[in-house]
Amino acid sequence: MDLRSPNPYWLLKNGLISNYPSLTQNEKTELVVMGAGITGALCAWHLVNAGFRVIVCDKRHAGMGSTAASTALLQYEIDTPLHELIDKVGETNAVRSYELCSYAIEAVEKICRKFKGNAGFTYRPSLQYASFKKHVPDLEKEFRLRKKHGFKVSWWEPDKFHDTMGFEAPAAIYSQLGAEVDAYQLTHHLLQSCIRKGARVFDNTAVTKINYHKKSVELLTEQGYYLTARHLIIAGGYESQNYIPKKVETLHSTYAMVSEPMPDQDFWFRNCLIWETAEPYLYLRTTKDKRVLIGGLDDDFYSPEKRDANIQSKSKQLLAQFKKKFPAIPFKIDFQWAGTFASTKDGLPYIGSIPQRPNTSFALGFGGNGITFSLLAAEQITAALCKKPHPDMRIFSFNR
Ligand SMILES: Cc1cc2nc3c(=O)[nH]c(=O)nc-3n(C[C@H](O)[C@H](O)[C@H](O)COP(=O)(O)OP(=O)(O)OC[C@H]3O[C@@H](n4cnc5c(N)ncnc54)[C@H](O)[C@@H]3O)c2cc1C
Repeated sequence: MDLRSPNPYWLLKNGLISNYPSLTQNEKTELVVMGAGITGALCAWHLVNAGFRVIVCDKRHAGMGSTAASTALLQYEIDTPLHELIDKVGETNAVRSYELCSYAIEAVEKICRKFKGNAGFTYRPSLQYASFKKHVPDLEKEFRLRKKHGFKVSWWEPDKFHDTMGFEAPAAIYSQLGAEVDAYQLTHHLLQSCIRKGARVFDNTAVTKINYHKKSVELLTEQGYYLTARHLIIAGGYESQNYIPKKVETLHSTYAMVSEPMPDQDFWFRNCLIWETAEPYLYLRTTKDKRVLIGGLDDDFYSPEKRDANIQSKSKQLLAQFKKKFPAIPFKIDFQWAGTFASTKDGLPYIGSIPQRPNTSFALGFGGNGITFSLLAAEQITAALCKKPHPDMRIFSFNR
């Protein structure tokens, strides 16, 4: 599947960061990570640091799947609001999921601190406004629940919102915790760090068949070589559905664009992450090189061609919505792109194993918060392989 249109900003900005060879002979190792996007890179990094011998393989160039297209807002707010998630998975698991995502933002920051330029990581507050008056009661319910459970949030009335942001909204939740990162850059930093510690990374290496044995897994590559390992971690992004016997994802198309760089660096209050209650929602962030990034207008995914054919019209709509809010910011479109992403019924990722696929773990951070989920997947799978199962892993298991 073509996961994204050809020219996402992060790929153009960073270019080809590192080169990795393709696999040209049979290899045996302890663990294989299939997929060298942000999820595979985080898994490999945690596993290598836990002392495992790891090989990572990818059919594309590393990071060039969805990761290169990601707008990379890091939010603890899952696509499913807390009050709805409670109805789906119960209060304990819902609250714990939100807590884990908060934790994940801080854990990603600690990792980014190890790399040059912090891989673009910057803490940013997050502001979710009610798109319509009729959304206010649910947003208020959400605010009360989050406050009750210890999340650092405040409630903004229309006057406060207008005075602070300069446009109208009937109410908003302001959260102190949020962040932005360059997911594509971080992926390469992580993979390079793994290589320095003895891991091997092969890109342009497509796995065409997986043989599951009692004590091992055997991956056959398109070039006819075998990768044999004690355990496989599938971090194949939205193409991972191919390896799961039941359907767990629904695919959507999503659209994003960035402005040309602008002279002023402070665009709005603390350059916070801005999003709204409407579905699909519009979201905004800024970049380190003084651009504004707008995304959203998601719709159902039919084919990469149909998705990409919509880029121009979606960009026009995104721009019109932006101009209504910030008429004084001279947003000129510089790059625009589209990507596919997957959602799940409850908005939570799938992490762990299934009996039909022995010696295999899945790291599937499906949803708008894929990157925070990837961090959780990496930690939880590493803990399981170290025989110290993570108590929270059951929340994201396939049989939840
Ligand atoms: C436009 C857009 C905006 C987004 N915004 C955000 C956001 O703001 N915040 C957020 O947290 N998330 C966001 N996401 C989601 C986030 O980008 C994803 O969750 C994340 O990039 C997924 O990473 P991944 O490594 O799992 O998948 P990928 O980056 O797609 O990596 C999976 C890799 O597996 C490889 N692979 C698959 N099958 C095989 C095979 N058979 N053999 C070998 N290799 C294989 C692929 O080639 C691919 O490189 C966004 C996504 C898009 C598209």
